[in-house]
Amino acid sequence: MQLKNKVAVITGARQGIGFGIASAFAKEGCNVVISDIDQAGSEKAAKKLQKFGVRTLAIACDVSKGDEVRGLIDKTAKKFGRLDILVNNAGIFPSVPFPKMTEADWDSVLDVNLKGTFLCSQAAAGKMRAGGKIVNISSIASLVGFEGLVHYCASKGGVNGMVRALALELADRKINVNAVAPGAIETPGAAKTLTDEAKKGIVAAIPWKKMGTPDDIAQAAVFLASDRSNYITGQVLVVDGGWTLR
Ligand code: NAP
Repeated sequence: MQLKNKVAVITGARQGIGFGIASAFAKEGCNVVISDIDQAGSEKAAKKLQKFGVRTLAIACDVSKGDEVRGLIDKTAKKFGRLDILVNNAGIFPSVPFPKMTEADWDSVLDVNLKGTFLCSQAAAGKMRAGGKIVNISSIASLVGFEGLVHYCASKGGVNGMVRALALELADRKINVNAVAPGAIETPGAAKTLTDEAKKGIVAAIPWKKMGTPDDIAQAAVFLASDRSNYITGQVLVVDGGWTLR
């Protein structure tokens, strides 16, 4: 898939979908920067990728903080001398009924999911050359509504809007900007928020009759990060086992 010897930064990558993407990229020979809010967790995850024989770097970064994001991208450029791929994966999805949603609840979700995507994209695009790829992990919550997730749905809808506008801005530099919109995926983050009962209901509603795996999302990310998607930009690729088809 032509990711060999490229350099990718993946945010929120110590576990779940982000780690699945980092693993799939490393399998393709891509050097990866594992970034997450927690340094020890990032280092542990980076160690797990050494078996693929690629170079790795672990950098703690809260994507909602501009100075930390600029540090992440600067350290990456200093170590590798290039940046080819950014995956904006870090995200939070705490469920709060709308009448009880506080300003702080709203701000924290928008800060991580939407502002984080802006900050990382701006810093990374500054270092990318033609052929650069920005892949955003959106959600089907950008396309359909979910109770208890008004802030989250708004943040992911914002990501899709950003994808289209940024794809236009970066077209003359031949940098692709796309998103993957996952459905229900088995991750530590999802396990924290889903009761067994809720999970049963979700699986029953998915035509494929199962939740997806981080690797299901990672394979779409590999495609959007590779040269095979060079003429695709500003698009949102839904990977949800058919959940949103009806
Ligand atoms: P996850 O298991 O919770 O992993 C996300 C990682 O991001 C965690 O390690 C988390 O750390 C980290 N993180 C949180 N806030 C951060 C910040 N400010 N800066 C940097 N890292 C931060 O979640 P996931 O299920 O893999 O989700 C990954 C992405 O996929 C998210 O954008 C999510 O919205 C999207 N998504 C997930 C699903 C799903 O069903 N799982 C569906 C659609 C979309 P902590 O654990 O310390 O918070």
